[in-house]
Amino acid sequence: MSAKIIDGKAVAAKIKANLKLQIADLTSKGKTPGLAVVIVGDNPSSRKYVNMKKRACAELGVYSEEHSLSRDSTQSELLCLIDDLNQNPRIHGILVQLPLPSHLNEGQVIERIAPSKDVDGFHPISVGKLMIGIPGFISCTPAGVMELIKETGVSIEGKECVVIGRSNIVGKPQAILLLREHGTVTICHSRTPDLAACCRRADILIAAVGKPELIKGDMIKPGAVVIDVGTSVNAEGKLVGDVHFDSVSKVAGWLTPVPGGVGPMTIAMLMKNTVESALNF
Ligand code: NAD
Repeated sequence: MSAKIIDGKAVAAKIKANLKLQIADLTSKGKTPGLAVVIVGDNPSSRKYVNMKKRACAELGVYSEEHSLSRDSTQSELLCLIDDLNQNPRIHGILVQLPLPSHLNEGQVIERIAPSKDVDGFHPISVGKLMIGIPGFISCTPAGVMELIKETGVSIEGKECVVIGRSNIVGKPQAILLLREHGTVTICHSRTPDLAACCRRADILIAAVGKPELIKGDMIKPGAVVIDVGTSVNAEGKLVGDVHFDSVSKVAGWLTPVPGGVGPMTIAMLMKNTVESALNF
């Protein structure tokens, strides 16, 4: 194996240790950061993510509230809850766990969150700020990826950066963040005719697809930084990324594992956004 493994757990632990000090300081001034987590229905993956976020709050000293709504809740019930949380002075961040049941309008729910409490960075105002390069909340997963790239010491400026995936929560904000650091950015997606050729150009490759082990070693430029955002369960029931670890680790210069790469960073960035929000109030 030639690739150096980027240990997301260790990087996240470092960030969280710093946040813990900041949170203790805020608490001593009577301003404990507070996060409200809203979950609708009983999707097991959503439940798992909500529990992880609540655990991180408890570990760092962030005040957290879970609001659990039944699967058949109405749009107006959910919007009313968000209105209450928008007004609640103990709450600095509001997170609605996605996906919502299909009868609910996700876009409208996200837009109802006060932009000042949008710690997920999904509100159109947060996205607009990211796009034009003014400070605001940045979607946690792409923000975490940027920290992992920083950890390698590889400069983004002038590099060929390829992002696979164009979702609003990962692919698109990821591309903008790389562009902000002066990367030459290509976005690939399900209709890209020759994905392998695009990947082979990448000095920095971010895979955010959700297709188990789609990216193989022969698609990688030797020495590239490869960040695997994808998480899926393969045919043997094992959690894997978008990257075929065994073959890619022989060619890449740097590689994140799944699990233990991007996942822990997403939660650390959520905590960071919540602390920043408390500081702004
Ligand atoms: P999504 O389904 O919204 O988007 C997937 C993207 O992949 C789409 O833009 C689609 O065009 C593209 N795509 C699909 N098939 C492709 C193919 N064959 N070739 C090239 N592109 C293709 O998913 P998402 O919400 O952006 O998440 C992507 C992955 O990242 C998922 O596996 C998700 O579980 C994972 N994820 C992980 C974290 C984390 O913290 N680790 C956070 C968010 C998402």
